Amino acid sequence: MRSRSANRSGIVIRRRVTPAGDIIVTLLTPQGKVKAIARGGVRGQLSSRLNLFHHVGAQLYQTPQADLATVQQAVLEGALPRLAEPERYAFAHLMAELADALFQEGEFSEQAFELFAGALRGISHQADPEWVALVMSYKLLGLAGFIPQTTRCARCGAPGPSHPDPLGGQLLCGACASLPAYPEEGLDFLQNVVRRSVRVSIEEPVPEEQRPALWRALERFVTVQVGGVQSWRQLVPHVGAVPA
Ligand SMILES: [Zn+2]
Repeated sequence: MRSRSANRSGIVIRRRVTPAGDIIVTLLTPQGKVKAIARGGVRGQLSSRLNLFHHVGAQLYQTPQADLATVQQAVLEGALPRLAEPERYAFAHLMAELADALFQEGEFSEQAFELFAGALRGISHQADPEWVALVMSYKLLGLAGFIPQTTRCARCGAPGPSHPDPLGGQLLCGACASLPAYPEEGLDFLQNVVRRSVRVSIEEPVPEEQRPALWRALERFVTVQVGGVQSWRQLVPHVGAVPA
């Protein structure tokens, strides 16, 4: 591969500052995920532009010798200031971690980019960011091919399971389960969220008291099926305090 320059427009989903003052960012773009380094970036103009959740247009330079492309320039194309609000920030961070774990570098996915950008907008603007994050997490998982089994018991295969699966985050039948069945709304969500449109799901929020169980299921499912979501346990509400 020869040295080359490329322009990419994407959202910063991960940002790390090295001891040398370089900023390493991961961008989710319509052409896939890209990791790049802004050398000495902490001390320059790039620092404030390459912030988490910013939509930036970046000029990247790749040489055959270097693992990472270098960020030569970056312009801010869009930002969602309300994501800085603590209750929204946690959900946006959770979505960014999930997207980073689900999508690989060089994998072209315009749909993933659109879905993720829509998730951030929803978390920024909607009155119920927790609900947006639950819906969009399952939609992102579905797009990446991770779809919970809901028609058969995850342990014995019996049809029509309706109880929580505390190990795998799927569903168990009454005979295999140790926990009571999900209430109707929560069960309907788990069975249908992946194939239902985002708009329909957003308009029919599951009552708040049922959400801790849904988050636990999501956390288990992601941990078992996807892995690689380091801060997931602290970010997912209602889960951090539960022993592994
Ligand atoms: Zn069973």
